Amino acid sequence: MKKQMIFDAHCDTALLWYQKKFDFFNEKKGHQASFLKLKEGGVKIQVFALCLNSEHGEFDPLRTLLSNIIFIKNEAEKSGKLKIIENKNDLEAVKKNPNVIGGLIAIEGGDLLRGSFEIARIIFDLGVRVFTPTWNYRNCIGTGMYEAESDNGLTRFGKKFIPYLQDLGVIVDVSHSAEKTFRDILKYGTKPVIASHSNVRKICSHPRNLKDAQLEKIIGNKGVVGIDFFPNFLNNTGKAKRTDIIRHIDYISGKFGDECIGFGSDFDGIHRTPDDLNGADQYPLLINDLEKNGYSKKQINKIAFENFYHFFKKHLPKK
Ligand SMILES: [Zn+2]
Repeated sequence: MKKQMIFDAHCDTALLWYQKKFDFFNEKKGHQASFLKLKEGGVKIQVFALCLNSEHGEFDPLRTLLSNIIFIKNEAEKSGKLKIIENKNDLEAVKKNPNVIGGLIAIEGGDLLRGSFEIARIIFDLGVRVFTPTWNYRNCIGTGMYEAESDNGLTRFGKKFIPYLQDLGVIVDVSHSAEKTFRDILKYGTKPVIASHSNVRKICSHPRNLKDAQLEKIIGNKGVVGIDFFPNFLNNTGKAKRTDIIRHIDYISGKFGDECIGFGSDFDGIHRTPDDLNGADQYPLLINDLEKNGYSKKQINKIAFENFYHFFKKHLPKK
C-alpha cells in the first residue's frame, strides 16, 4: 500500500544532527526524526527548526546558527536524498520526485537575529524560510508565552521586522508567542501566518496552546495550525496517546473545517512522546487512526500533507 505523504511543519532534529549527537542519514535508533524514520513514516517534507536560545547553553548562538545552516545544506546536497526547499519550484520538484525528502530551514526564536535587518537578509539568502519571532521569553521583537505577564505586544522594531521578513518571502510562525504579541503579528504583518506546533487550549489548558479566538484569527486569515505531539500540550494529565492527537484534529476540523490543520510533531524537541507514537516512523499508525475515525482519504491527505503544502506553495518566493 502506498504510504500517505506527510508534511511535518516542526521538528528540532537539526541541532542534534549538527552537534553530531547522531548520524542523521544512517542511524535509526535513539532519535525521533532521523532520516530513516522520516522515510519509513512517509514524511515527504519536514521543517527543521533551529532553536538556539541562551538557555540551551550556546556560547555564541549566531555563530552556531550560521554554521548549522551551512552544515545542513552541505550534508543535504552531499546525500542526494534530502533537498532543501527555498522556493516554489523546489517545493513542486520535491513533491514530484519519489527519491527525495524535502527539508525547510526554520529559525525558532528571533533573538538569534540580533535585531538586525541585515542579518535577517543574510539568513534569508542562506535559505531560511520559516521564522518564529519568539521562543518562550521576551526578545527585541516581542514576548513569548512564558512571560505573558509582561507582554506588550510587538516592540517598535518588531512592528517593522515582521512585515520585512514576510515581504522577503519568509513564513512567520506564531507558535510560542504571548497573546498581545500574537495579535500584533497579525495586525502589523502583511501575510497569513502559521502556528507550526501548537494545539487547542480548550482541550488542553497549557499556555502554549491556542485559544479559540486565536485559532479563528489564524484560520480566518487562511493560515494553518500544526498539531504538536508533546503530551503536555495534548492532554492535561501530561500522558497522551494518539487518540489525543485525534481529539485536537476533531476539534479544529469540527469548528473550522479541515483545510487549516496539519502536523507539527516537535520530534526531537520533546523528551516524551505519546505512548503509542514515539517517532516519525509511526506516522502510518496515526493515519490509520484517522481513517478509523471516519476521515476520508481526501480529508486525510489534506491534514497530513496538502494544507501545509498549499500554504507554502502560496507564500514561498517564486524562485
Ligand atoms: Zn517550539
